[in-house]
Amino acid sequence: MQAATKMSNMDKYRFRRALEEIERAEGRGTELVSVYVPPDRPIFDITNYLRGEYSQSSNIKSASTRKHVMQAIESIINRLKQWRMPPPNGLVCFVGHKDVGADQTTMVAYVLEPPEPVVSFLYRCDSRFYTEPLHEMLAEKDVYGLLVIDQGEATIGLLEGKRISPLKNVQSLVPRKTRMGGQSARRFQRLHEQAVHEFFKKIGDLATEAFLNRRELKGIIIGGPGYTKDTFVKEGYFHHELAKKVLDTFDTGYTDETGLRELVGNATDVLRDLDLMREKALVQRLMEEIRKEEGGLAAYGEDHVRRALELGAVDTLMVSEGLRKLRLKVRCANGHEEEKTVADEATLPKCPTCGAEYAVVSRRDIVDEFSGLADRSNTKVELISADSDEGELLLKAFGGIAAILRYRVA
Ligand SMILES: [Zn+2]
Repeated sequence: MQAATKMSNMDKYRFRRALEEIERAEGRGTELVSVYVPPDRPIFDITNYLRGEYSQSSNIKSASTRKHVMQAIESIINRLKQWRMPPPNGLVCFVGHKDVGADQTTMVAYVLEPPEPVVSFLYRCDSRFYTEPLHEMLAEKDVYGLLVIDQGEATIGLLEGKRISPLKNVQSLVPRKTRMGGQSARRFQRLHEQAVHEFFKKIGDLATEAFLNRRELKGIIIGGPGYTKDTFVKEGYFHHELAKKVLDTFDTGYTDETGLRELVGNATDVLRDLDLMREKALVQRLMEEIRKEEGGLAAYGEDHVRRALELGAVDTLMVSEGLRKLRLKVRCANGHEEEKTVADEATLPKCPTCGAEYAVVSRRDIVDEFSGLADRSNTKVELISADSDEGELLLKAFGGIAAILRYRVA
């Protein structure tokens, strides 16, 4: 089997958009067919199954539903013919007749390679397409290192998206404090300190092993009861590269697997804020440039940014996730053409040259168009959510599109 391919943020964005369209479709009966194909299932296996469903569906009472379901299944079987084995992440098919009003339906068909491997085969026929598993795949999966520690025990783990995986649990050999006086108390104290030092060193090494080579690691959070966790951080037991990634420490009652769950629970707000902080910083950088004399290295608004992109002058393109616009190529009956950006295809203007109606020749999501331009000049693309004040500012004040420039463009 080939290695599963990783999707870029932009690919995920396109996928999410496709999904929005798929989810709007509604069948007049239970006649929209969804099929999930895992990467290791031979296609003939799937088509055999679908042939079974095809014969079953001849029992459906409603004539129109029966006809539609059978057509959908037939269409999927035909579309799957181009593969012997599914692509690395498997396949997802959505095919059926969607309701378009006025007693009419139209057949739609989507065959997608999902952003992560399909886990298990699924066939479903309903009045809506079944898309839940794909949302799960699209969810951001930031990776954080976890450590819960006190003098008796430590547990190292990872947080990936919402999943917590414990990696190592270690019990220490640090002797418990006892009541002793004089010489033996001092001797005990020395032994105790030595044992704690050895234990911390060991945990530091295990953390290095677990975290250092994970490039996607966004940060490390640390928990435990009392001061031990803070001592561990302050006295430099982390590898210096990891020390830079320590985000914060939190009190937890436990230092085992339960402690890892407690830690993540206590750190939720901090982790959510981190993402927003990155977006805020980007928009703030933009604002700083705008405030400079003659606009500094900033561009905003559709036309200005498009021009800068075409010149290859954009370092970082910022696009709001809240942006919903289409870039259309339109043509009138007399052959006059132009490109237009619209929020809604239904409100097309008339041709300014001859006054005839415009017809749409081609359409593209505007975010897609801009990221296409960005790809040509090695420009970083940042999708900014509308969840922060800064994100909202980008959407409302700058039309959802702005850029930090490499050099000034008039
Ligand atoms: Zn015209």
